[in-house]
Amino acid sequence: MKKIAVIGSGTMGNGIAHVFAQNGYLVTLIDIEQSFLNRGMATIDKNLDRQVAKGAITSERKASTLKNITGLTNLEQGVKGCELIVEAATENPAIKFQLFKDLDRFCAPETILASNTSSISITKIAAQTNRPGKVIGMHFMNPVPVMKLVEVIRGYHTTNEVTGLIMELSKNLDKVPVEVLDYPGFVANRILMPMINEAICALHEGVSGVHEIDTVMKLGTSHPMGPLQLADFIGLDVCLAILRVMQDGFGNPKYAPCPLLVNMVTAGNLGVKSGEGFYVYHKGSKDLVPAPRFAK
Ligand code: NAD
Repeated sequence: MKKIAVIGSGTMGNGIAHVFAQNGYLVTLIDIEQSFLNRGMATIDKNLDRQVAKGAITSERKASTLKNITGLTNLEQGVKGCELIVEAATENPAIKFQLFKDLDRFCAPETILASNTSSISITKIAAQTNRPGKVIGMHFMNPVPVMKLVEVIRGYHTTNEVTGLIMELSKNLDKVPVEVLDYPGFVANRILMPMINEAICALHEGVSGVHEIDTVMKLGTSHPMGPLQLADFIGLDVCLAILRVMQDGFGNPKYAPCPLLVNMVTAGNLGVKSGEGFYVYHKGSKDLVPAPRFAK
């Protein structure tokens, strides 16, 4: 494979485009507005500068990486001649289902369609197309240029051949792929989200404070970041949405989100992106200060 398209130039899409382009693939990055593409390209540029400054890549490699990426706002034109599409658009089933219907029409029959969804069933996405055997999950982790893991998710109909190709391709990106089946939360979120939810329940019940709960998990279990700080980083709305998918998908009350998490999302306290979650985030500040509500 040489020519691929990435759909969505947000947090994940620009990282995915970066990694493919850095490894020699020709990438078309597609979004709905030119300003979103510009923002995505600026992020790639900044992240490449960081790699150059660290000595991880040369400035020539930076230049060739940028040269490998073309931004476009037209889906039909952008996916023409691509052998693989990696969809990283907004986590909204209606948006993804429509995109996969369109991709199925616009792409050659042999093109593989991958989704970076965190929680939507790959089997349901594949059902929007006439090529369910060629639809697969490629779940990259954030930040994509740094994190090694790719969860490769087999939908109900995904073929062995397509799975094998995507496993190999992920290794070519210098990632470590892990094959998993299509069940709610896949593996990473199925294990991570109940842990985050339990940390929120412990806080809600007054078992301990924000800083204390995170310290226990960092120092006691060698996690680089405590579960509450990680929830802020992921976005509390995203955590809530994934827990709801698992609660609904398994029909098991153990996945029910903590009422405190529901309240915080309703109140608009979503973590880093809104400036306040379990901690407060001021531009430029590196101090981790619990939000006033949770201050001791
Ligand atoms: P984001 O909001 O940062 O970016 C989404 C981008 O998709 C936006 O630029 C938006 O304009 C674009 N978009 C929306 N509809 C589109 C369409 N029809 N065509 C083209 N572009 C379209 O979101 P994100 O955090 O990058 O998440 C993208 C996907 O990656 C989601 O499925 C999410 O679940 C998944 N994911 C996110 C993370 C994370 O930590 N953020 C981690 C793993 C997986």
